[in-house]
Amino acid sequence: MIISAVRTHILEARLSQPFAYSRAWYDTRTAMVVEIETDTGLTGWGECYGPARMTAAVVQSVAPWLIGEDPLRTDYLWQMIYARLRDHGQKGVVIEGLSGIDIALWDIKGKHFGVPAYQLLGGPLRTEVQAYATGLYRRKSGDPLRYLAEEAAGYVAEGFKSVKLKVGFGVEEDAAVTRAVREAIGPDIALMVDANHAYDAVAAIYLGRMIEPYDIGWFEEPVPPEDVAGYRAVKTALSIPIAGGECEFTRFGFRDVLTSHAIDILQPDTCAAGGLTECKKIADMAEAFGVRYNPHVWGTGIAIAASLQLLAVIPAHTPVSLAPVQPILEFDRTEHPIRQALLVKPIEHTGGIVRVPEGPGLGIEIDWDALARFAVR
Ligand code: CA
Repeated sequence: MIISAVRTHILEARLSQPFAYSRAWYDTRTAMVVEIETDTGLTGWGECYGPARMTAAVVQSVAPWLIGEDPLRTDYLWQMIYARLRDHGQKGVVIEGLSGIDIALWDIKGKHFGVPAYQLLGGPLRTEVQAYATGLYRRKSGDPLRYLAEEAAGYVAEGFKSVKLKVGFGVEEDAAVTRAVREAIGPDIALMVDANHAYDAVAAIYLGRMIEPYDIGWFEEPVPPEDVAGYRAVKTALSIPIAGGECEFTRFGFRDVLTSHAIDILQPDTCAAGGLTECKKIADMAEAFGVRYNPHVWGTGIAIAASLQLLAVIPAHTPVSLAPVQPILEFDRTEHPIRQALLVKPIEHTGGIVRVPEGPGLGIEIDWDALARFAVR
């Protein structure tokens, strides 16, 4: 079997209502899907996190190196692409492009052997995972104290045991909405906050101290990813666990994060940090450092499926205990017209639990009509 074609699909969909996180408004959802075809007729699907037109350019530039290669040699192909671009792309869009390629290759590999990708990544440690609801963004109108509390209560009513709130809109306001959401969900639901690196260490510590009484599960991206000393300062000052890593790449990048002891919970994005090949290695390294690993997930059903394949094989956080702390799935609940439409059988939750797809490869089937409908011409 050899690779016969590599295609990229840039998808876009307008939102009915724009929403904001700490640094920007969204009025459109975009996705970059990788399709790799083989001479046997098997096709694999992957997805790249990041700016779609840039990751598509990376994948198209790399495509000629893949034509004629054996798609089952996932590690070899990863090393080959990385080595050829090492001087120019150790982080960022190059690795995001490589991630989508790698995921598509794992989809092919699973389909070739007739098993889910997790079976070839070591076999499943779990076949279902707890999901947390990512939402609680800002809207153009209304009182956030009210609509965020209502939205959070809605997730609890759906069965979610944990929710994540966007902060980074000013320390006083963040503290007020955190309190409102905590009061709306009650004491038994986990509440995490995510600043998307809106703050410096001084402001992050100030906010952290104000919200410590609300039993916060983790404080995500308090400071910019380059500010490792800032991460360490925040971690030292607060009792809240510190999370981050969606802007970091490859085992080499995460090696430096781990040896700096700056983060309690690692959040590599499978579609950005290097694909399934690399993220399994990062997860094993995190375990060796005693650091929890919960993947960042922000994409279509392909990204969710790839993340679930990885979640099936990530070591439990406390592997020797009788009640191990298990990794959890980030489950984006914001409007995304492409996310569910792209799969013939969308991935859904039942009472906050998501099953890992059991079909071959990523365990998904692409809806060709949706692929055409959202395609950017
Ligand atoms: Ca985040």
